[in-house]
Amino acid sequence: MKAETKSSYDVIVVGGGLGGLTAANRLAKEGYSVLIAEQHSKVGGYATWFKRGRQHTFDVSMHGFPSHLKKSLEINWNAELAGSLTRLEKVVFDNPQFKIETSYDEKDYKRILKEQFNIPEEQSEGFFEALREHYAADSKIESFKVVFNKFFPGRNDVLRFILEPISYANGFDLDDPAHAFSLIFLRFMQDGVFSFKINTKKIIGLMVEELKKSSVDIMTKARVEKIVVADGQARGVLINGKSIAAQAVISNADLFKTVYDLTGRDNFDTAFLDQVEKTRPSSSNCQVYIGIKEEVSIPYVGDMIFTSEKYVFDVDELLKPGTTSMCLSFYYSGYREGSSDTVIVATINALWQDWATLSKKAYDEEKEKLIRRVLQVLKKYIPDIESKIDYVEAATPKTFQRYAGHQRGATFGTKFEGLEVSRLLPQYIKGLFYIGSVGIIMSSWLGVINNGSISSYFIKKYLRRKARLEVRK
Ligand SMILES: Cc1cc2nc3c(=O)[nH]c(=O)nc-3n(C[C@H](O)[C@H](O)[C@H](O)COP(=O)(O)OP(=O)(O)OC[C@H]3O[C@@H](n4cnc5c(N)ncnc54)[C@H](O)[C@@H]3O)c2cc1C
Repeated sequence: MKAETKSSYDVIVVGGGLGGLTAANRLAKEGYSVLIAEQHSKVGGYATWFKRGRQHTFDVSMHGFPSHLKKSLEINWNAELAGSLTRLEKVVFDNPQFKIETSYDEKDYKRILKEQFNIPEEQSEGFFEALREHYAADSKIESFKVVFNKFFPGRNDVLRFILEPISYANGFDLDDPAHAFSLIFLRFMQDGVFSFKINTKKIIGLMVEELKKSSVDIMTKARVEKIVVADGQARGVLINGKSIAAQAVISNADLFKTVYDLTGRDNFDTAFLDQVEKTRPSSSNCQVYIGIKEEVSIPYVGDMIFTSEKYVFDVDELLKPGTTSMCLSFYYSGYREGSSDTVIVATINALWQDWATLSKKAYDEEKEKLIRRVLQVLKKYIPDIESKIDYVEAATPKTFQRYAGHQRGATFGTKFEGLEVSRLLPQYIKGLFYIGSVGIIMSSWLGVINNGSISSYFIKKYLRRKARLEVRK
């Protein structure tokens, strides 16, 4: 814990995920004193990494971003971070319905829809136009399923081509709003998929440097036990039995934990608690991390492969234990600046309940099976993969739950109804704000950075008003 922590701040941020870090940076740049309290020894939340063996560094969540992240990093962070984004060249789909290589942008998608799926140009044009309308008008509450079926009824293969990546990228399913789908899909379609030339460790390091320049205090190994509330107002936090005062508190921790545990049910009415109860956490993931021996290389097979052995596409099947559907991200030697490390990360959609109830023995066995399954799938692309590996490890929804504390190991926080819950918090408790993954649009690196940025504006307004009222007293 940082020794020189002050006894009082303008703002305390509970949790150092990307949303919390961004809000802290914005507010500190406006001259507010800010403390970030993070339970782990490093900030970043899901934007994290781990090192194994002499050489391998695995990035957990930096697989794909739309180009819009560049602007967001420029505005909220700095040019160096924004400049480190780089476009992925080749996205591959490989399943019993089709094998496609694409640059993953609108022009190429329309070409493939025409040439490979025999979709007339006007039809795919109409679909993109409809999505653009939904993009612009969030009042249209049509589900993605309704919009898709208008243009491509009965075309399960087209559904797979369009929806599969977004199901991995944001836990999206057919009943989610077309508006949210449009925002994500069209952003990717604008310029393709991006990742970083530097690893997550460097990214978070650059963010910490920026926070230090803005005089933000960062307290690590600091688990917030309580958000202190008195007379309907957030007054600070309790860490290891020590209270630190604040004018405003931002929670970047899990939304449910924020309401139930950190703040306490007593501070809310039944109607609000019912609304929280009805909020659905997003689905979770498994990942398999594969390290390639230093002395060998693997052939270039693409940057990202969406692979599946399932004949028909089914969003629910992606979540089933034993699925062969997964997204493979390849980080070739030299891909990250200054690193000769080659690693592959397989991301598999998963449900908490399929892992949480297993005995220790069954859990370990299932993890082992998952690893075998991923290696089996990888053999299709790199037949001698097993002889090239010197490290392999699996993570499950339990791993993600343990690390960031999200209910059911949710990868993307909550479904869209969580946004309203998060926005209502300050109406119940003055000076208590929430920034984190709530709904598809507000989750992912881009979503939470934008959420941190937008919310910092409301927090600033609140602090100014509070200061004015105190002067008048
Ligand atoms: C496997 C996986 C793959 C992903 N891939 C991508 C991808 O390719 N592209 C993309 O854009 N997004 C991806 N994401 C999603 C993205 O990483 C998240 O949406 C985003 O990082 C969440 O940020 P956040 O601000 O909500 O905070 P979180 O990352 O949820 O961090 C919350 C922080 O709060 C801390 N905390 C919790 N409780 C307390 C407490 N009581 N006291 C102190 N600290 C506390 C936690 O330790 C954590 O550091 C992925 C996520 C996962 C899990």
